[in-house]
Amino acid sequence: MAEHDLAGELDAFLAAHEAELIEFRRDLHAHPEVGYAEHRTTRQIALRLEAAGLRPAILPKGTGLIADIGGGAGDEASVALRADIDALPITDEKNVPYRSLNAGACHACGHDVHTSVLLGTGLFLARAAASGALPGKVRLIFQPAEEVPGGALDVLAAGGISSVDRIFALHCDPKLEVGKVGTRIGAITAACDKVKVTLSGPGGHTARPHLTADLVFALGKIITELPAALSRRIDPRSCLSLVWGKVSAGTVANAIPDLGVAEGTVRCLDDGAWHAAPEMLKALVESVTSAYGLTGDLSYVRSVPPAVNDAASTAMIAAAADRVLGPGAVTQAPQSLGGEDFAWYLESIPGSLFRLGTRRPGSVDEFDIHQPMFDVDERCIGVGVRVMSATALTAIGPGNGAGPAGGPARLTGATMGAAGGAAGGSLAGGAGGPLARRADGEAAGAAGGAALAGPLLAGAAGGAAPAGPARARAGRAYPGR
Ligand SMILES: [Zn+2]
Ligand SMILES: [Zn+2]
Repeated sequence: MAEHDLAGELDAFLAAHEAELIEFRRDLHAHPEVGYAEHRTTRQIALRLEAAGLRPAILPKGTGLIADIGGGAGDEASVALRADIDALPITDEKNVPYRSLNAGACHACGHDVHTSVLLGTGLFLARAAASGALPGKVRLIFQPAEEVPGGALDVLAAGGISSVDRIFALHCDPKLEVGKVGTRIGAITAACDKVKVTLSGPGGHTARPHLTADLVFALGKIITELPAALSRRIDPRSCLSLVWGKVSAGTVANAIPDLGVAEGTVRCLDDGAWHAAPEMLKALVESVTSAYGLTGDLSYVRSVPPAVNDAASTAMIAAAADRVLGPGAVTQAPQSLGGEDFAWYLESIPGSLFRLGTRRPGSVDEFDIHQPMFDVDERCIGVGVRVMSATALTAIGPGNGAGPAGGPARLTGATMGAAGGAAGGSLAGGAGGPLARRADGEAAGAAGGAALAGPLLAGAAGGAAPAGPARARAGRAYPGR
């Protein structure tokens, strides 16, 4: 038997299909759709998955989809890979052939890349399953509405991670060179909540603040005291940060207004501090307003929790990347105070999100995500497919599942011969290329597997989303998300 060579198998797969995956990304980039409007995107993904013999299930709200690869015995290890598919409501200012054709929408967070990577990974793993070389089950989650955020909650509510042991995702990093990935144990992204403090009082003349309540002065106290008090009442290691972005009060220089508003965000890297923050802020607002004779109202809108990467899952990514990219490709990812709704999954099951380097080596461009000029070195798609595929195989390898990290999964050289011989195939739905072909029915059985059970089917048929088992397990409610 030929010695196992996963890197070689991925090389062969990408030699045949990388260009088409890049084309797929450019098509998505030219047709970006914002959260819950990803209908064309969903169709394009579904077409290609179905052509590979998979049976995607559309999520209840009509966008986003889930497809299972392999599985059968029921007790094998199961891993989910998640990509977000939505774009941002900003204008694409790049001058490239694949510039957005949808006014006011742009894939400026790289979710087109995430989607293309997951598609490529799914097609590679489907070939493995068709050859009987997938030792467990892989679930592909093409999640809508990450930027809204909340698409992750729809996936959870539809039972999207029920019976899944681990979950993985990646995110483009324009500061990291293509060919490298960044991993981190613990919080990699932050909670990001919205805070609005509204003060009201009688108003009056600025000559007589003692006869009324000096609302602007008190608003100033709110603006400075709340962040200051939080920094002394919450463990500094939680990196909780309240920063104001919008303040308004008054209309003229000599009148004390009767209304003032301060709005900002709370970001936090610690789950416990994140849960404690609203009550603490409420008490602080009350203490300031009562001291100055005003009424204060705090609106605290929860968004995503911090994304806390599990150590064993993170080690699997690093081992997989080492194996298929070679030594030196894995770097330590910095913590980000940005939010990422992948965090919702990590509150229920272990998993890890890693950074995918997208920066062109030697480039003078200083791209950042959420900017209208954001673009990537498209070789990152092939890198992503390699690492995602190897990570999934590592996680479902013998001795893994929900347990501690073990050795990587083994594919025999012979089993992936079909992928190696797939040169010249087409990803286009129904085009009949090697990936689209059902390999005389074997892919339809082995790779497609059964349609998703219960909740997803009910949802796809228009039923209401049932309560998410994952959320029930986590035992938490998230008011005002
Ligand atoms: Zn984003
Ligand atoms: Zn993003």
